[in-house]
Amino acid sequence: MIQPDCTRARPGPQPDRPDEFRTVRRAPSQRKAETPAPNRSLDVVVVEVGPRDGLQNEINLIPTPVKIEFINALTASGLPLIETTSFVSPRAVPQLADAAEVMRGIARSPQSRYPVLVPNVRGLERALKAGAEAIALFTSATDEFASANVGTSVAGTFDRFGPVMAIAREHSIWVRGYASVAFGCPYTGSVEPRTVVAVAERLLSIGCDEVCLADTTGVATPQSVRHVLDEALRDIPVAQLALHFHDTAGSALCNVEAGLDRGVRIFDAAAGGLGGCPIAPGAPGNLRTELLLNRLDALGLTTGVDREAVTDAVALLAPYVPRLREAA
Ligand code: MG
Repeated sequence: MIQPDCTRARPGPQPDRPDEFRTVRRAPSQRKAETPAPNRSLDVVVVEVGPRDGLQNEINLIPTPVKIEFINALTASGLPLIETTSFVSPRAVPQLADAAEVMRGIARSPQSRYPVLVPNVRGLERALKAGAEAIALFTSATDEFASANVGTSVAGTFDRFGPVMAIAREHSIWVRGYASVAFGCPYTGSVEPRTVVAVAERLLSIGCDEVCLADTTGVATPQSVRHVLDEALRDIPVAQLALHFHDTAGSALCNVEAGLDRGVRIFDAAAGGLGGCPIAPGAPGNLRTELLLNRLDALGLTTGVDREAVTDAVALLAPYVPRLREAA
């Protein structure tokens, strides 16, 4: 596929890495010793979201043993963060109803983290019981999207997060906070960068270790990425900021490069380009991990991930996801 020309795309100067990637919200003594930290000496941290964000948006149900084999294969590729599953209501997301079995079944590497999505205390309790040591929380940059996605306003999502964070702190759980529709909303259209940043700052202020600005419906452009980041990086340490793009007409890599240009070093992607957005019909799939790895490699940036091994992992799913079969 022909990719758009990313004319501005050059990685910016890299800050001193140990400091850049230091988690500043929690003292080391408070961290759970057995919760491993990914290798932060890499140039770029690739966050694999295929098993959760990808599979929850695929129509076909994948057998649990196949998911476990897929995640184990992703681990073998060296991916430092693998968003593994979701402890939302199995009625709401039947594709991930086997979250506990998956968490218990995978072979975890000390080099990787395995965050799971939790919507509320009940989800967190199920996740903890299944051995989760890292979680992801979701809010939105707009009330309209929050309401459609999780049935409450942005403020309402933070009300839910309060008790979740209290328990997470007790268990020294690593927490990623997502701000959805950070570059545009299907209900409101454009979103003010200041509004996005206020949500992101609030996520950090309640104790999130990392905040991810998500282009949930694939409308970001390099220009909107730069606008949001210019606002965000005044207040948010770049080491705690991640970007999540969907690949509308091959635009995701240009957006990644706009992020690199501003110093961001954490990017989400889904093996095989799995996923979309269930409440935004026609939303394109997530940026494909293999494409991201190719581009980062071409830019001379290290990720510690074996691209061939990611391809092998995707092949395991091909019998169950027609799109992957066609691409193979
Ligand atoms: Mg996504």
